[in-house]
Amino acid sequence: MAVDGDGTDGGGGSQPPVKPAAKEKKEVPTLRLSQFPKNDHVSDDYEDLDLEYSSLVLGSLEKYLPTEILTAERIVKYLFMSDVLEKYITRGDLTMAKNRKEYRQNIISNYQPRFRELYNFDPKLLLLPPFRNAISENTEESIRRIISEPFPGVFVFQMFHPAFFQILLSEVENFRMWALRTMLKIKRPTSKSMYGVVLDDFGLDIMLNKLKEEFIFPLCKVLFPEVCGEMFDSHHGVVVEYGENRSVAELGYQIDDSEITLNVCLSKQFAGGELCFRGLRCKKHARAEAKPEETFDYSQIPGQAILYRGCHRNGARATTSGYRANMILWCRNSLFREMETYQKECSDWCGQCAHETKEKESQILAAKRKEMIKVEGEAKRSTDKPWLVYVRRSKK
Ligand SMILES: [Zn+2]
Repeated sequence: MAVDGDGTDGGGGSQPPVKPAAKEKKEVPTLRLSQFPKNDHVSDDYEDLDLEYSSLVLGSLEKYLPTEILTAERIVKYLFMSDVLEKYITRGDLTMAKNRKEYRQNIISNYQPRFRELYNFDPKLLLLPPFRNAISENTEESIRRIISEPFPGVFVFQMFHPAFFQILLSEVENFRMWALRTMLKIKRPTSKSMYGVVLDDFGLDIMLNKLKEEFIFPLCKVLFPEVCGEMFDSHHGVVVEYGENRSVAELGYQIDDSEITLNVCLSKQFAGGELCFRGLRCKKHARAEAKPEETFDYSQIPGQAILYRGCHRNGARATTSGYRANMILWCRNSLFREMETYQKECSDWCGQCAHETKEKESQILAAKRKEMIKVEGEAKRSTDKPWLVYVRRSKK
């Protein structure tokens, strides 16, 4: 947590907890967010201040503030929180976000959606009854009943009514045609994917929010409890397209900018396009080679949804014929990311970190063994007991 001195302007007047005087070299205790929210705390409203970060995000984050800050003035709280958020959202990101907001506002005020029912998202029309029932029962048993796990950490299930795929792809096409007529340059879905659209750009963010909060989060609480103690606070929803006249080259492997990724295959007619998983990786080891036991290729089934952790390195094989489209929803939790930065040791979930820790342990063990053999050898040559030789050597 960057609150120990040289950060941004204090601005708190007589409030020393955030900014001690630069010249003093006192030891300042590091203030950190608390691990659990203070649910009974009523957060301040930041709406009237016209700040860089949304009032909603600040209000949620406020519940995690350390007590010393929680009781401070609103501006002190804001400065503390912006220090935290700045680590994830830089000034450049904020400018990009501002441009994106203008781009979206232009679309929302001029684009006429074709399928209003998609935007209103009625679960009864668009989600399959077994899926809806499992979520409304909301027990581990009901959720595991509709899900299979073909590989550790990769969960597959059916969730959408076939009508959903049809109207979603038609809406995407409708948006594309409108952009062509109005000469709007469509922004690419992700830095790696050239073809497709960002669903949030033309008003589907409300639908995706509902999907994420009411249907994906309950699943994740059961399947990924280590990540999903708290609700996701943002997302990025896209449709990516492959095949036909689009490039068929493989895009390599990546870790997603998400805590959890939902990936749904929308099209029926294609060949190739297998989803490939290559082990869970922290950022430091994003390119480390996969071990054979981490390698899993999955042939996508039209209509099927796949859920996995964003750090589960993945990629797709080339779509060799036909047209393939996938809806991908990156679900994010900034609090989880912040907590991860407090961790000093290796990540036990990263395959490479775990491998390196094991290597170190076996090297230490081998060195100890070598030492013991030496001690035993010396003991045999003398009349001393082995333990006495060992003590004597340790004292040297
Ligand atoms: Zn690692």
